[in-house]
Amino acid sequence: MITLRGLTKRFGPTTAVDDLTLDIGPGQVTGFLGPNGAGKSTTMRMVLGLDRPTAGRALVDGRPYRELRHPLYQVGALLDATGIHPARSGRAHLTATARSNGVPARRVDEVLDLVGLDGRAVAKPGRALSLGMAQRLGIAAALLGDPPVLLLDEPVNGLDPDGVRWIRRFTRDLADEGRTVLLSSHLMSEMQQTADRVVVLGRGRLIADAPLAELIAAG
Ligand code: ADP
Ligand code: ADP
Repeated sequence: MITLRGLTKRFGPTTAVDDLTLDIGPGQVTGFLGPNGAGKSTTMRMVLGLDRPTAGRALVDGRPYRELRHPLYQVGALLDATGIHPARSGRAHLTATARSNGVPARRVDEVLDLVGLDGRAVAKPGRALSLGMAQRLGIAAALLGDPPVLLLDEPVNGLDPDGVRWIRRFTRDLADEGRTVLLSSHLMSEMQQTADRVVVLGRGRLIADAPLAELIAAG
């Protein structure tokens, strides 16, 4: 469960997120829809404790990220594929993250399996990963702690059609398993494919918040 209360972030003269109040609950995909610069990433970064709110609060299970007892087990995120260290193999990245968070090593193979990656294929150091593989690795990392809350920031950007289909189905499955999934996109078509509820952001403000069917009916 994600709770936003009066959440606001200013960068100098720019108000990136403007007094956002929302509850994002389990068992569905909540879509964050808005053009580039609408404040989607900044909101997610505040939920993950990576940006500090100027005002208001972003909570996971009632606590700010920095006060979570077991963050890796409570919330996972795919922000972009750049978190993967190029000099390390994909597998080593997962193994290191698992180790530093007290996740049993066998979980690395489990999450690779979940995202359909062959452990041997991603084990070679320095191997250039396709964006699709990098995305899958990023999702595998986010799933290490089997967290009930997942944030996916523009996950289909730049993927080939197979990758897009896979991410959509995987996102749906995560919600159908009962997780809280927040998915951002600048495309209504992504919302139509995957979201149950759509929160529309513009210039950091909440513009609309409705079940997908209602939004489509309203045109
Ligand atoms: P979105 O994810 O919807 O594209 P962002 O949250 O990335 O939107 O950006 C919202 C606004 O905040 C934009 O105007 C962006 O330029 C600005 N912004 C985001 N991060 C920073 C930063 N670190 N410094 C200054 N401005 C930022
Ligand atoms: P560290 O290796 O010290 O945990 P990172 O740069 O990997 O540092 O992560 C910074 C913070 O972001 C940490 O508190 C970590 O728990 C959190 N974090 C990293 N990856 C994820 C993820 N996929 N989902 C949620 N939180 C994450």
